[in-house]
Amino acid sequence: MIPSLHTAGLYIHLPFCLQKCVYCDFCSYTGLEAHYTAYIKALLAEAETRAEAWSNRSFDTVYIGGGTPTVLPHDLLIELWQGLERRLPIVSREDREITIEANPGTVDTLFLASLHEAGIQRVSIGVQSLNDHELALLGRIHRADQARRAFQMARAAGFENMSLDLMFGLPGQQLEDWQRSLQQALTLAPEHLSLYCLTVEPETPLAAQIASKGMPAPDDDLAAEMYEWAQDLLCAAGYRHYEISNWARLTAEDERPDLMVPALACRHNLKYWRYESYLGLGVAAHSFDGRRRWANLEDVSEYIARCGRNQDTTAFCEELSPEQQLGEAMMLGLRLIAGVSRRDIEARFGVNLMQVYGAEIERLVQQGLLESDAHDRIRLTRRGRLLGNRVFAEFLR
Ligand code: SF4
Repeated sequence: MIPSLHTAGLYIHLPFCLQKCVYCDFCSYTGLEAHYTAYIKALLAEAETRAEAWSNRSFDTVYIGGGTPTVLPHDLLIELWQGLERRLPIVSREDREITIEANPGTVDTLFLASLHEAGIQRVSIGVQSLNDHELALLGRIHRADQARRAFQMARAAGFENMSLDLMFGLPGQQLEDWQRSLQQALTLAPEHLSLYCLTVEPETPLAAQIASKGMPAPDDDLAAEMYEWAQDLLCAAGYRHYEISNWARLTAEDERPDLMVPALACRHNLKYWRYESYLGLGVAAHSFDGRRRWANLEDVSEYIARCGRNQDTTAFCEELSPEQQLGEAMMLGLRLIAGVSRRDIEARFGVNLMQVYGAEIERLVQQGLLESDAHDRIRLTRRGRLLGNRVFAEFLR
């Protein structure tokens, strides 16, 4: 839980997609192909502008996300990656984790091989479902067989650390549909799995379809059943659950009893849950330096124009009080299955956790949502994982 003062994560936002999925409220745009080259140039200009403020850290994780990063031509992605390496203190190859998100339907083996050769070690594939009718319902651009092929192509390209994203709790989805999807995903033997329960975000086409009764609303109880079933299946299949929505395949390294998270956990995302620093570059990217957090503006043309003039692209910035920092560290840390350590909190924030949050913790323990071991750790119970938002709300004052 205690972050290193000298390392940080780097997040790169590439906000371009071929088609908008019906549930998506991320900052992503279609039809902006003409801006790709200018956007990468702008991103590198932002990296240069922000480099000085981050010069006392080194980046040991990089996550290139979106959007769909792999809609960009591979030479542009490589130009981006090499440009970042020249401008920012990214640690050497053996000590870092570099991930790129890829969507089936936008990659082939040569494309992936060139990324791997350029030094990107990990690929996270947005599969979402291995049932064609669900992919169509979600407005995804790919079919299930393309998702399987994308995975195999990434393996053939040399990626040894791969993650798959799947979604459950979809409108009309039956338990058996979900079971089939997840079981098929396991036949691919990914190193890592992220399983997300669909959230119907306001102002999305999906919300409108549900409101007009064109589609059934997701069934929360059934989604809980799907999640419970997935936890059992993945445990039996040799995966360790380390965050509410994330699992990593166990390796020989995981036999060490002192490891709080599995060796194949996503190191970049761990920085968010451990409340460590990260710099986000690109439109809508968020950053946190341990004291302040900020977010970039969302408009691509405006972002390109400002970077071209060496102007600030920050749209929002907030200085966090020590109380806010503690609350956020608790809320994020409790997402980890290993929970938070009272000793670490004390060392980092100089407070006794039980004196600040004793009443809340006790109430949540009585409700069966949190458990606390005799000497140090506090974590969500299995029931608490289903009702995480109720728990986290107690730590935000
Ligand atoms: S691919 Fe991802 S970012 Fe793009 S529209 Fe779909 S969900 Fe949104």
